[in-house]
Amino acid sequence: MQKDKIKLLLLEITALLSQDSTEAEVKIKDGVMSCPFCGGEPEVKNFNSMSGSQWMVRCQCGGHRGTSQTRGAAIDKWNLRG
Ligand SMILES: [Zn+2]
Repeated sequence: MQKDKIKLLLLEITALLSQDSTEAEVKIKDGVMSCPFCGGEPEVKNFNSMSGSQWMVRCQCGGHRGTSQTRGAAIDKWNLRG
């Protein structure tokens, strides 16, 4: 349901806004934006899979946006907010 999605988004935004920061700024470290799920700092990870070297930005909370073939692409993917 679309409504549920919007509700979730609103909750997310409210959580972000209520965080202890000067503004609803997004912390950027190494070009990686903070986690949209928990606000934490994600890690850029490299690992080998069957299809070769893969990169993934992954947060402690388990949030991620899938793998990419390059570090830059993985970060871009992570930073892209739908
Ligand atoms: Zn997180």
